[in-house]
Amino acid sequence: MSNNPLLHLLHVDALTPRGWAKDAWIAIAEGRIQKIVSPCEALPPLEGEVLTLPGWVASPGWIELQINGAFGVDFAEEPQRMWEIAARLPEFGLTAFLPTLVTSPLEAFRQAMKVWKAGPPPGWQGAIPLGLHFEGPFLNPKKKGAHNPKFLLQPNPDLVADWDSANGVRLVTLAPELPGAFELAQSLHRRGITLAIGHSHATFEEALAAFEQGFSYVTHLYNGMTPLEYRAPGLVGAILTHPEITVSLIADGVHVHPAMLKLAYQTRTPDQVVLVTDAMSALGMPPGRYPLGGGQEVFVDERSARLKDGTLAGSILKPVDALRNMMEYCHASLESVLPCLTSTPARVLGLANKGRLEVGADADLTLLDPQGNLGMTIVGGKVVYRA
Ligand code: ZN
Repeated sequence: MSNNPLLHLLHVDALTPRGWAKDAWIAIAEGRIQKIVSPCEALPPLEGEVLTLPGWVASPGWIELQINGAFGVDFAEEPQRMWEIAARLPEFGLTAFLPTLVTSPLEAFRQAMKVWKAGPPPGWQGAIPLGLHFEGPFLNPKKKGAHNPKFLLQPNPDLVADWDSANGVRLVTLAPELPGAFELAQSLHRRGITLAIGHSHATFEEALAAFEQGFSYVTHLYNGMTPLEYRAPGLVGAILTHPEITVSLIADGVHVHPAMLKLAYQTRTPDQVVLVTDAMSALGMPPGRYPLGGGQEVFVDERSARLKDGTLAGSILKPVDALRNMMEYCHASLESVLPCLTSTPARVLGLANKGRLEVGADADLTLLDPQGNLGMTIVGGKVVYRA
């Protein structure tokens, strides 16, 4: 017997870079996709596990670039529990993600790097933490949102000397108009870190200058930034008129009006839109009080998560609902929205082997059942979640 496990998915509709492979056979071994045959007629005898899934949709595994926690745990408050929470994120269809830390004492960021670098406990399986997203602490106090102002800092490259890809730092959100922000951004960019604009009071002109400096991604478009006004287009205007900038959107219908989501979608291609949840620690939990980084308490009801003063503090959005909402608000097909959860976040991180269903790619798949509900999550060729 081969010690390479084999898994076969039969009669699924697979979204590939060339469009739908209808009624397909997907063969998986050694953690990679070995074969996609459509339609899957006249099969040879198959070795290994066979799952027959007529009417199911096989999407590339969903990749989440902004999630602050789940199941009662906040990644900034308890970074040591990162792997434990990662093990459960396939319950939301996620196959990979960036644990995201909001503004916190710098020690919390250091602790998260240590935990990420130490790797998973033996026998662990789950959604793969591809690295860390640091949302803060170099944010504009005028657009702080739910970030604790006590821990916001002025940009200073000396404070981030250990922020690099070897320590897991993949994405940093900062306000480019702060004094010293460009110098700090350049030092991060040289270390392979993707630069995101967010929680920023940048004007239209300051935004254009930031794009020149290598900021290529925007954290939760509309939220925490200068709005679109007709004589002062602001950061939002600079983004929506730019040909290349990629944006993330929180499509819960609470953070952003559906019409504004549609506007973003119409001015970008799906390759320039990432659906994020910005979910906080209450994701997957009943309403109640939950922690948020920076030592804060958040009040969570059925629809939203807020600080005591009513400020939105992350979401409780599930990726499958973000997908459904975008389809509904933008009158868009499944095929045109799925890249926002798959190939686009993979491209933001420069990953060639993820976010695509093609031969040779990592066998990370998120499957929807014939009713469109999340049905199964596969990471590295292993079924890690079944609804
Ligand atoms: Zn934010």
